[in-house]
Order: sequence, then structure tokens, then C-alpha cells
Amino acid sequence: MLRLSTPSIDESVIEAVNAVLRSGQLVYGAQGQRFEAMLQDFLGVRHAIVVSSGTAALHLALVALGIGPGDAVLIPNFTFPATGNVVRLVGAHPVLVDVDPSTYCVTPDSVAAAIDAWRGPQPLRAFIPVHEFGHPADMRALLPLARYHGLKIVEDAACAIGATEHGKACGTHGDIGCWSLHPRKTLTTGEGGIISTDDDALAAKLRLLRNHGMVRQPQGIRFDEPGYNLRLTDIQSAMGLVQLPHLPHWIDQRRSLAAHYRQALAPMVSAGLMALPANHPGHSWQTFMVVLRADIDRATLICDLAEEGVETNLGAQCLSMQPAFEDIQPLPATVHASSLYRHGLALPFCESYGPQQVALVTNLLNRLLLAPKTQKTT
Ligand SMILES: *Cc1c(COP(=O)(O)O)cnc(C)c1O
Repeated sequence: MLRLSTPSIDESVIEAVNAVLRSGQLVYGAQGQRFEAMLQDFLGVRHAIVVSSGTAALHLALVALGIGPGDAVLIPNFTFPATGNVVRLVGAHPVLVDVDPSTYCVTPDSVAAAIDAWRGPQPLRAFIPVHEFGHPADMRALLPLARYHGLKIVEDAACAIGATEHGKACGTHGDIGCWSLHPRKTLTTGEGGIISTDDDALAAKLRLLRNHGMVRQPQGIRFDEPGYNLRLTDIQSAMGLVQLPHLPHWIDQRRSLAAHYRQALAPMVSAGLMALPANHPGHSWQTFMVVLRADIDRATLICDLAEEGVETNLGAQCLSMQPAFEDIQPLPATVHASSLYRHGLALPFCESYGPQQVALVTNLLNRLLLAPKTQKTT
């Protein structure tokens, strides 16, 4: 089976993990501190704080900014549902924004339209732009818009580690940035997440909340406020330390894989069978999602591809079409978000794939999309 993606784990990662296991220091040791220092360098931020997942990062960000019951938060209506779950979990109200049909990210126009249409009793307090699949959201235009409306900005860069906009890392433009280190993302520690901020007081608060609200002093520990346990282990940090230096090369490989796909899929695009994702020079290509023509039966296509040994999947979710968010309907209607959810198809994509895998996938797609169902023998 050609998997949607597979993490790149070599022997040096296994060695690094073994060394931590032998050391006896499994949490809050030197590995975590070194990983955070390396991330601060890589991202160009004052504080990188590692946590147990991307969702933990987003959740902690909202708590630290004081977002809670009575607040409204702008989020895209096309994303991984964790973006919306955390808003609901802190008791705030998600306001759903449409996305662009080819970048899959919110735009200044769609955000402005949602702000204009918002009539709820809750004041808009925060905005979570998502750098969907690694495509940079247009922070240059979104930032002043959000600031004008007095919104805190938490960037969901969960799938965008290594993505940049005008040379600056995605996730470092707003008040807080959040990344995921899940195995489906380009850099993984099994599970894991990163929070960044340039604000020293906010960083101190995030660190406190990550670890039970605990303060360590020479004479003993003290608990300053109720906190969570959202730490990353040193086992995971050791993986990250070995993996992070490879990331720029992996992203280069992903950019060249995206270029191969674009070329190989061009005839199907010309034939009107699908549309391709926007190409941005700072795109980190965590996922390569095409959009199928509306009348193509995606469910059947996914099953047929799987039967031929190729794993594909939906791209991301339209939140208002999920039971968990059914009670929250977007205004104005988010036509692109629902269409991308219905017709998006994520293709096998990771740094270890090349022209051979692209040929396998595109030849199959070509055959299955051009062969009417009725002509099949099975
Ligand atoms: C993966 C992802 C998350 C969640 O990250 P986890 O580490 O799995 O908790 C949140 N938002 C987006 C956009 C994601 O792609």
C-alpha cells in the first residue's frame, strides 16, 4: 500500500531515544531545553515552548490570553476540527469564516465579511488564522485587519512548520503561534506541539499553565494557579532534536514533489476533472490536496484507489458540517469551505516520495476518472 505519508525516522532517531531511556531523565531534562532553544533559533522567536500536542498548544494559547465564556473567536470553516474544538472547550463561541478556493486559507475579504455580519451577543476577542496544509495565510493583510478590530491573534500553524511568508516563519506573525508534531505533519515526535511568543510575560504564563501552575524554588515547589499537565517528554524532545536539522531539506523535497504532481496532473486539470492547490514560494506542503470536479463520486474513488494500493483521504473538514459544530452556522455562507470539504482529495505525499510514486498515483487517477463506472467488470 502506498500510504498517504510516512514519517522519516532513521537509526539516529532511534539511538537518541534509546539514550534518553537509558539516562533515567524522561521529562523536563536537558533534551526539552535543547529542543526549545533549537526551535527558538529555527523560528526566530524569543520563546518556543514544547507541549504534548498541537491541540494542547492551541488550547493553552487561548487560556493564557484569557479567552473564555462570553467571547467570540474567528476561525476558518475549513480546517482540522481541533481549531474549533479548543474554542468551544474554553467556553467561547466560534465564528466561522470562509476560505479561498485555491489557497484553502482565510482571506482579508472573508474575514472582513464575517466581522461585518457578526451580530452575536459575544464580542469578537480573538482570531485563529490557519496556514492550511502549509500554505501561508496572508498575514501581511490579516494582521492590520485583526489589530484594527482589537483581536488577539493565535496562528494555527499546526501543519505549517517551515512555511514562510516574506521570509518570516508562519506562526510568528501574531501574538502566539502553534504547531503540531503529530506523525501526519512534516516534523514529528510521535505526538507533540510547540507554542511560540515574543512576549516574556505571556511565555511565563504558558510555561506555568503547561506544568500544573508549579514554580520550582530551592526550598521546594509552590503552586501559583491551577494548571494543566501538557508537557512533552524528553524522549519526544530527543526525537525532535535529531529531526529538526533535516526539515529544510525535507521541505525542498516536498516542493519538488509538488512540482512533479502539478506537471503530471496538468492534463486532468485541462480536462476539467480537478483543480490544483495554489503554489506559494513559502508553502511547506504538509498535504497536497486537489479538488475534484463536483460530479465525481469521491467516496468511490477513494475506495477504488485503495483497492489498487493507493491510500488517499479527505483533506480537511468543514466544521459547520460536523455534528460537533452543527449548531453554529456561518454568516455569510462559506461556500468554498463546504465545497473543499466535499470535493477535496489528499494524495500520497511526503519527503520520501518521488516521480515514481507520482506516476503511480496519476496513472491510476487517470484510469479511474476517465473510465465510467458502468464499464467496470467488477
Ligand atoms: C494537526 C492539526 C491540529 C492538531 O494537532 P495535534 O498535534 O494532532 O493535536 C490542529 N490544527 C490543524 C490545522 C492541524 O492540521
